[in-house]
Amino acid sequence: MSSNMTQPIDLRELDLFAFCRKGGSAAGEVAVQDLPRILAETAAQAPASARDEVFTYTATGFAREEAAEPGAPVVQRLFLDLAVKGQVWLDCQRCLEVFADPIATSMRFEVFVSDAAADAAPMDDDELDAIVGSKRFSLLELIEDEVLLALPAAPKHTVCPAVHESLVTGADGEVEPEAPPEEEEKRPSPFAALAGLKTKH
Ligand SMILES: [Zn+2]
Repeated sequence: MSSNMTQPIDLRELDLFAFCRKGGSAAGEVAVQDLPRILAETAAQAPASARDEVFTYTATGFAREEAAEPGAPVVQRLFLDLAVKGQVWLDCQRCLEVFADPIATSMRFEVFVSDAAADAAPMDDDELDAIVGSKRFSLLELIEDEVLLALPAAPKHTVCPAVHESLVTGADGEVEPEAPPEEEEKRPSPFAALAGLKTKH
């Protein structure tokens, strides 16, 4: 008997509909070894321990009996809350050193029975994502999706350890001032104006 409060689930083949209907909850760890798309994103220069990273997750299902709109028939809507935490080893785009980027993501999904049902749903709530459930749903893939979505487009240390601040400025193109727009170029520069004043005195 497990001492866990949550029941063991098969991460690769979960009856997601039943899980949500009975208000199931699960928590545990997922090895990065089981997430090939995350391994593919892991920096080549990462320490050997990077291949032993684990992500912790919590998954909670629930159902609500409610009408899609006032007056409409009451239907059962299924939801899944999923939170994932861990870290991914990435190359810093500023100093090019490898670093462990912390990942913490949580999302609420509405679980639909089919693609058509998901497409028909209004889904005007930014806090809610639509997924199509299955009796053999891979929560593992959903966890992997969420970690991938949480990865930064341009990974960087908050503060690079080895590079002096003076060298960092402008190195990534964000701090460097952009070329002034055309109209600004037509204005007399303040230095030219000053020079004009000086010659008058
Ligand atoms: Zn860096």
